[in-house]
Amino acid sequence: DRPKLVVANRKMHGNLPDNRQFMQSLLQQTQQHSARYAICPPHPYLYQAQQLLQNSHIAWGGQNMSRFEHGAYTGSVSPLMLKEFGCTYVIIGHSERRQRGHENDETCGERFEAALKAGLTPILCIGETLEEYERGETDLVVVRQLNPVIAHVGIQALSQGVIAYEPVWAIGTGKAATPQHAQAILSFIRGHIGLLNEQVSEKIGLLYGGSVNPGNAAQLLGMPDVDGGLIGGASLVTEDFIRICQIAN
Ligand code: 13P
Repeated sequence: DRPKLVVANRKMHGNLPDNRQFMQSLLQQTQQHSARYAICPPHPYLYQAQQLLQNSHIAWGGQNMSRFEHGAYTGSVSPLMLKEFGCTYVIIGHSERRQRGHENDETCGERFEAALKAGLTPILCIGETLEEYERGETDLVVVRQLNPVIAHVGIQALSQGVIAYEPVWAIGTGKAATPQHAQAILSFIRGHIGLLNEQVSEKIGLLYGGSVNPGNAAQLLGMPDVDGGLIGGASLVTEDFIRICQIAN
């Protein structure tokens, strides 16, 4: 049975006191939970996350990283640095970065590999735009995004990461995918992976992301192939995020 994982993608939000309140409330109110949780704050706050969350049941991670370990890459953060600050996870290929040209399917493969090499668990984000959705191309798009990563790292290595299906039209719009759509696509993704390796497909964690909130989380997370959620806006309201964690648990 795959454990549920709920990840807060705090994007470019938060500050020291707000983060502290968020993390301490989450710590206190989810102590006995068996579901897994992770918080991805902006990079400068990873030290704070490490200070507040180390030796707890809550993990933390980066929202992005370089595919290189060191070098003349102004403004970039190395996988080794994320690891040094205790990160368990790193988000890779978020659509907000793909759209601005910072990432593409090929570099996502390299990032995925670099994350594993550093001992991080990559959370690979894939998902179609509204136009692609309306053209009925969702399956095509997720395969197009997934295949270069599989080709790059191999199917066994894929199972050491997590895949998050985040339809771009559902991100920050308040229009979450229906539980049926999320289930259909995640089941399709699992099936696609299963063509290459049945065991990997059964083991790999698949998340849904896009306007998850306390009102729709039960239905979305209740779907058989939805192993958890990647939560943006609702992770900025402490009670909402804790509510989603309670539902996942
Ligand atoms: P929202 O939950 O705000 O739609 O954001 C989802 C997301 O992008 C998580 O990575």
